[in-house]
Amino acid sequence: MAGVYHAFGRLAAVQGVDLEVAPGEVVCLLGPSGCGKTTLLRIAAGLEVLQRGSVSLTGGATAVPHGRHLPPEKRNVGLAFQDSALFPHLSVLENVTFGLKGEPVPQRRKRALGLLEQLGMAAYAEAYPHMLSGGQQQRVALARALAPAPQLMLLDEPFSSLDARLRDRIRDDTLHVLKKVGAGTLLVTHDPEEAMFMADRIALMREGRIVQMGTPRELYCHPCDPFVVTFFGEVN
Ligand code: ATP
Repeated sequence: MAGVYHAFGRLAAVQGVDLEVAPGEVVCLLGPSGCGKTTLLRIAAGLEVLQRGSVSLTGGATAVPHGRHLPPEKRNVGLAFQDSALFPHLSVLENVTFGLKGEPVPQRRKRALGLLEQLGMAAYAEAYPHMLSGGQQQRVALARALAPAPQLMLLDEPFSSLDARLRDRIRDDTLHVLKKVGAGTLLVTHDPEEAMFMADRIALMREGRIVQMGTPRELYCHPCDPFVVTFFGEVN
């Protein structure tokens, strides 16, 4: 995306952001509450209409022409947001296979079960969402987003409702799956430690702008201004 700007009324939530995600790369959008991370992710997903700038998904060459809106289902993106609800009337397995079209049923099942296995949820394949904890539902939502092997994964605080012990394992598993699938990933978090662990590159945001973009090491060892230092101050 280039020169992306987005306002809600008079509030400029995103103010001229340039960002690229390479295939297989995990880029973390990091920053304090209200800095525009979710808005940027929603723009990439097509959940917000682009007001200024451009978004293009290269590789599959899904360009979003200026002034035209391409809805999320035509973007070849996988979405797992904090509040992404599972279909309550479908089993875990059916939730994950839901978006898989044009493939024989046994293959769909195999792929879905493989992802559930990798995310520690295979034992719940026949369960229904109301039987799962919030964290388990998040893992199923991740598997569902990954199942169609999207070109770009968009994750908004995907580990937020997991307890600390489980979070480390699921982060690990998710990273493994993302690298295996080879999708580019844009992951929103307000947690510097999570960004350090997950990211190939971090885009640290403040008030709608990217303050510094680079590898975790670059931001930690060569912060470009005091805000970056303060933000990473808590991480050891
Ligand atoms: P958090 O970490 O708390 O989720 P964020 O960095 O993701 O925050 P955004 O949700 O992108 O921030 O919000 C950026 C700014 O835009 C905030 O000031 C927020 O109040 C405002 N905002 C977001 N969505 C809307 C909306 N639909 N209508 C009006 N203002 C909005």
